[in-house]
Order: sequence, then structure tokens, then C-alpha cells
Amino acid sequence: MGTNSPTRVAVIGGGISGLAAAYRCIELADESLQPLQMTMFEAGDCVGGVFGTSHIDDYLVERGADMFITNKPWALDLCRRLGLEDQLIPLDETFRRSLVLRNGRPVPVPDGFMLLSPAKVWPILSSSLFSPWGKLRMGLEYIIPRRADNGDESLASFVRRRFGKEALDRLVQPLVGGIYTSDPEQLSLRATMPRFLEMEKAHRSLIRASKRQASKQAAAEQQGSGARYGLFVAPKGGMTVILDELERRVKERAEIRLDTKISRIDPVEAGGWSLTLSDGSTQQFDRVVIAIRSHQVAELIGDFDNQLAKCLRKIPYASSAIVVSGHRLVDISDPLDAFGLVIPHAEKRKILAVSYTSRKLAGRAPEGRVLLRTFVGGAMQPELLEQSDEEILRMVRDELSEILGVGGDPDFAIVVRYQNAMPQYHVGHLELVEQIESRTKTHPGLALAGNAYRGVGIPDCIHSGEQAAERVWAADSATTHPT
Ligand SMILES: Cc1cc2nc3c(=O)[nH]c(=O)nc-3n(C[C@H](O)[C@H](O)[C@H](O)COP(=O)(O)OP(=O)(O)OC[C@H]3O[C@@H](n4cnc5c(N)ncnc54)[C@H](O)[C@@H]3O)c2cc1C
Repeated sequence: MGTNSPTRVAVIGGGISGLAAAYRCIELADESLQPLQMTMFEAGDCVGGVFGTSHIDDYLVERGADMFITNKPWALDLCRRLGLEDQLIPLDETFRRSLVLRNGRPVPVPDGFMLLSPAKVWPILSSSLFSPWGKLRMGLEYIIPRRADNGDESLASFVRRRFGKEALDRLVQPLVGGIYTSDPEQLSLRATMPRFLEMEKAHRSLIRASKRQASKQAAAEQQGSGARYGLFVAPKGGMTVILDELERRVKERAEIRLDTKISRIDPVEAGGWSLTLSDGSTQQFDRVVIAIRSHQVAELIGDFDNQLAKCLRKIPYASSAIVVSGHRLVDISDPLDAFGLVIPHAEKRKILAVSYTSRKLAGRAPEGRVLLRTFVGGAMQPELLEQSDEEILRMVRDELSEILGVGGDPDFAIVVRYQNAMPQYHVGHLELVEQIESRTKTHPGLALAGNAYRGVGIPDCIHSGEQAAERVWAADSATTHPT
């Protein structure tokens, strides 16, 4: 950039990805002393997209994400830049363990089991989750050779190949299904959990690799150089703390137009982009970050790049819902002595997982009460979402009663629906994303951000927004569109 006329930037979508992009643009403008004229367009009546916090009675209720991972640095780094680092709290150690349903009853996930791989052998051997044959098959992982083929592979195929079918059906499918609400037969391992492929490549056995990693970590902790944070954190006052501060800072320097949907984008011949708003008016910008779902992007750009639109439409999405409910502990017979419970598809239940949210994070429920978040639907049970809210509430109530002995009337119970909100990273996803990225690069001053491409978690979304801001900021303002 090198002129003193302001650079006109539009950010489409006011979810966490769009907000992170807008804030990064402000930082880049300040660093380069370049005047910025920015507008954020948000179709809804508030920013935040699928996440946000509200207070119901004395409960602190998250509508979407309730914490974020710290081993991907971007969310933590943003919190530091926003001055929010001191407000982050770790997970409460008191109930640190997870449960998995087996024959209708909650059973602990073996200690040291990290999504796909066990760092300890004894907890597996002593677990009632697996049959003797299942345990033996898991143990064979130690000697199973690497896969020769370097191509993408589904999560299910990888786990069956290394640990056997029982490990997949009874443990890995529900643990991973809870995160991605996906079918493991279709989920791309390379796009979702590449580190397990790397572990296999480098160490052959995941058990061996996990053990080495665990002993390295223990040594680092002994020397006092362990990670400062636990693996997951959240702001004490809820995820909205991040959202509110981002919104405040963006508002200081940009206009945020709520209830304003962008219905199309067209390249302007002399350079830049014309945006058509929901009221039919148009506005021109030099740079545009599009931070909305990939199939929604396809609707906007289909007229000028049909090929890109086709690729974007190939990313499927799943729908889900959460029932958030508050209960008196005396009304529940289960001790709820864990962070939550995941439910294998093979158990044939109507819920995917239950997060015991107030056992995980302090300050989420009043004394003597518990806040539960029960997940429903996803790629494997979409039909359950065809029910009305009342039917979903009844179904969840019956399930919680049978599985956890939840009785009495809850203090409150609400249904939050996420229609086509979770992108599904199927086998071949990264190749598709590479095509999308190389096609997008041919459009000067245009960048895509969001959870559809290289990660669904909050840190990934923030990273994608920041990278998109950096890309449009670095674009040459004199460049016109290729004809
Ligand atoms: C139930 C649930 C629980 C989750 N839990 C966690 C968790 O605990 N930790 C974690 O790290 N991640 C979690 N995630 C994932 C993470 O929250 C999401 O991936 C992330 O918030 C997505 O943000 P986004 O900005 O990319 O998209 P969105 O939040 O979908 O935002 C997109 C925005 O664009 C707007 N928009 C769409 N079209 C237009 C248009 N044409 N014009 C203008 N505006 C438009 C929409 O209204 C929306 O506000 C969870 C997700 C869900 C659904």
C-alpha cells in the first residue's frame, strides 16, 4: 500500500472469523500508517455467529463454543493482544476425566487416552470398556507396520487398521464424533488430526509415540518448563468476553452494519469489488474478506467464478442442536464426577454427548446446581432435528433420565439449533481446499476465512480470519481483475 487515500475494506460475516479479520486489518493499518475505511456486514442482529454467552437466572450459558484449545496459539495470542489474558481460567481439576457410555452405563475413558492413542497401557488393560480380544488387538498396535500409501484416509479406516474395530466403535468414534459431529467413515484424518498420521510416519506405533511424548512432557514439567496453560481455557465471564472486546475495538474504527446481508459480489473493471446489499443498494470496496459458510460464499460469487463456486459447494455441512439445561444436583442420582459423557453410535441412543459444563468450568452454575449441555443430531442422526423444540426437549429429558438418573423439573432448558453450521472435512478435503485457495488467489483483494477450510475450532477460525486480513492487506491496490 502506499497512497494516503483510505483503503476501503469490507468484511462479510460477523462471526469470530470475521471479527478476527477486521481486528487484524486495524492492526495492519496502524502498523503501516495507512488510513483504513472498513465496514463489516452481518446478516444477523448481533455479531458472534454461532457463539455467544447469555445469563439465565444465575447460570452462565454458552450458546456455542464454551472453551478453546491452547496448543494452537492463535486464540491465546489474540486474547493477549486484547488484554484479556488475565481473565482466562483453566478447567477445574476436581472432576478431570471423561466418560463413555457402554451398555447403557457411563464408564471412564482410560487414563492417558488422547483422542486416538493411549500413552498408558495399564488403564486400557483394566478398563471395562473393551473385551479381552479388543485389548489384545489394541496392544498389537505396537508392532503393526506403517501404511505404505501416503494418500488421505478416513478416521475409521486409520483406527481400525491400527487399533481394531472395538477401539473405533467403543471409544474413538464417540470422542471424535463429539467434536466434528461427523461420520468417521468419511472424516479425513489428514484434514482433522494430521498429527496422528505424522506420529505413525515418524514412530510407526502411536502407543510408542504417545509414551515418548508423555515422558518428555513430564520431564519438562519437572524442570518447571511445562506449558503455562492447561490444554483448554475459557474466559471467566464466558466466551462473550472475547466477542465483546473484539466488537468494541472494531466499532472504534469501522462501521458494523447488522441485519445487512450481502447478496452478491462483482468485480469492478477498474479494480476493487462491488457488493450488493439485501436492500438492493451497492457499495464499492478495494478489499473484501468473506467470512461466511462455504456454500453461502458460492451464492455470492457464482456469477463471476462458477468454478470456484462449484468447489465451495462440495464442502458438506451437518446440522446439530444443543439442549442447555440447569438442574438441582439433588435431582440427579449419577454423581456427575467428570467433565462429560460421550455416546457411541453403537449404543443406539438419541443423544451424541453430554457436557457437564459446570463441572468443567467454574462459575457456570449456582451452588448446588449443575449446568448440562446435551448434543443432538450431527451427520449420523440428522433426522432427529426434524422434531419441534418441545419434542427435542422431551427426548433429551428421557435420555438424561435413563442414562444419568436426572429427575425433577429443570430450572430451565432451552434448545439451540445449528442449521448447516458444522463443515464436514471428508476424505480429500485438503485437496479441495487447495483448489479453492489457488482459485481465490486469482482474484486480487479477495480472501476467504472461516471454519470451512483448515480447522473448525476457535483458534483455527481466528487464524483463518487473520491470514485473510493479511492477504488482502498485502494485495496490490493497483491490480485490476484478469479478463
Ligand atoms: C455447538 C457448537 C459448539 C462448539 N464448541 C466449540 C468449542 O467448545 N471450542 C471451539 O474451539 N470451537 C467450538 N465450535 C466451533 C466454533 O465455534 C465455530 O467453528 C466458529 O465459531 C465459527 O465461526 P465463523 O465466524 O467461521 O462462522 P459463524 O459463526 O457461522 O459466523 C458467520 C457469520 O456470517 C453471517 N453471514 C452469513 N451469510 C452472510 C451474508 N451473506 N452477509 C452478511 N453476513 C452473513 C452469519 O449471520 C454469521 O454471523 C463449536 C461449534 C458449534 C456449532
